[in-house]
Amino acid sequence: MEKKYDVAIVGTGAAGLFCALSLPQDKKILCISKDALDGSDSFLAQGGICMLRDDNDYDSYFEDTMRAGHYENRKESVEIMIKSSQQIIHDLEGYGVEFEKKDGQFVFTKEGAHSDNRILFHADVTGREITSKLLARAQERENITLIDYTTMVDWVCKDNVCYGIVVADENGKAEAIEADVTVLACGGLGGVYKHSTNYRHISGDALALSLYHNVRLENCDYVQIHPTTLFTKQSGRSFLISESVRGEGAVLRDKNGERFTDELQPRDVVSNAIFAKMKEQGTEHVWLDFSPIPKEKILSHFPNIYKHCAEAGFNPLETWVPVVPAQHYFMGGIYVDKDSKTTMEQLYAIGETSCNGVHGRNRLASNSLLESLVFAKRAAADIMTVPEFKKTEDFDNLVNLDDYEDLQGIMEKYHKMVVKEIKEEARLRALKEEAV
Ligand SMILES: Cc1cc2nc3c(=O)[nH]c(=O)nc-3n(C[C@H](O)[C@H](O)[C@H](O)COP(=O)(O)OP(=O)(O)OC[C@H]3O[C@@H](n4cnc5c(N)ncnc54)[C@H](O)[C@@H]3O)c2cc1C
Repeated sequence: MEKKYDVAIVGTGAAGLFCALSLPQDKKILCISKDALDGSDSFLAQGGICMLRDDNDYDSYFEDTMRAGHYENRKESVEIMIKSSQQIIHDLEGYGVEFEKKDGQFVFTKEGAHSDNRILFHADVTGREITSKLLARAQERENITLIDYTTMVDWVCKDNVCYGIVVADENGKAEAIEADVTVLACGGLGGVYKHSTNYRHISGDALALSLYHNVRLENCDYVQIHPTTLFTKQSGRSFLISESVRGEGAVLRDKNGERFTDELQPRDVVSNAIFAKMKEQGTEHVWLDFSPIPKEKILSHFPNIYKHCAEAGFNPLETWVPVVPAQHYFMGGIYVDKDSKTTMEQLYAIGETSCNGVHGRNRLASNSLLESLVFAKRAAADIMTVPEFKKTEDFDNLVNLDDYEDLQGIMEKYHKMVVKEIKEEARLRALKEEAV
């Protein structure tokens, strides 16, 4: 790996790749991933990506996003996201991404808490379709270097200016990489939870570094629990059963086969209803009944979900599927402004690791891929406006590489910091809310 880049991007999910592709081709860019290049949550997204259908839908889309977020969203960010959505979809198509169409027109689906159909999809593998195409385009670019199994363990920074990152390879060999700008695109924090739909290695590392270097965080206790993941007694990543399954008509049933909630309410409301029912009936899961959806639609729209459930012994065409809520998404994160700038100079944060306020207290389904892409592009645009970046004469003296020999120990320390912060913020918020 070379030692100097114009831009270092940490993460090869949708946010990191889209940012890299949105930067001019004369910029020398490094993109690293802690795992395989395609080992990102972006690849797992099933349901789809929102797009403003037409101007008539603006108020309703805005209101749905705000209502799902308990009106704690930053209005300016929501407006930016919605108004940018058509251009972003246009960009994606330019990169070769395909969405479901009929007679040349987009087909839109619906998920919980949306008052209208405004979600574009590619079967039930929308994230894979988008991210694999972005990865392929990035691999074609000569100015972008993509390196897998390389972990950011620290930042090289002084007096609140970031000059690059410290990375470690799989054997723990550390090196310092100099960059004019560092972009954090490290995803969420599901890896610190026992039950999560996220990849285990996506564990909020950039949040721990923010705590360490006094970079502002926001709403770290705003963690979304997805109502419907396949129930299993095995450990590991929980398999998600997309909200669009309920959007297309599937219903939740308790142990007696009774429906007990409106399945299309916001995720936190549905999850709470499931938890309450499980507690009341002493069960480990509830059931998802696919039967209201026509069989052909299950097979054509949800082939991946169908296959996975059937392989686990629950064929959705024949039987109900056991489901349980699990950690899914992180609404909080590293505080950023509308151009994705953190409170440290020359340091940006995009995607799930950042908090630009779009989601408020709870994310509206299928807003996260869109939000990641919109604000990744804005970060790239903002980087291009900086006439000159600060440099440091003593880059090599700012880090001692011997400090990073114990990679596993460092990661464990970071995980503990993140968990402590989530709990502390939740405790303080509960006290504050009690006092009101
Ligand atoms: C199962 C599932 C289904 C989903 N479905 C949808 C959906 O239908 N629609 C929707 O809008 N959203 C959906 N989401 C959410 C959405 O996929 C994510 O919010 C979004 O993809 C996040 O993108 P990202 O680029 O920020 O992070 P990710 O795609 O998670 O990428 C994170 C990257 O950071 C790297 N990384 C992390 N830490 C380090 C480190 N220390 N050093 C180096 N690299 C590091 C990882 O290796 C990875 O490359 C879903 C999520 C899951 C888990």
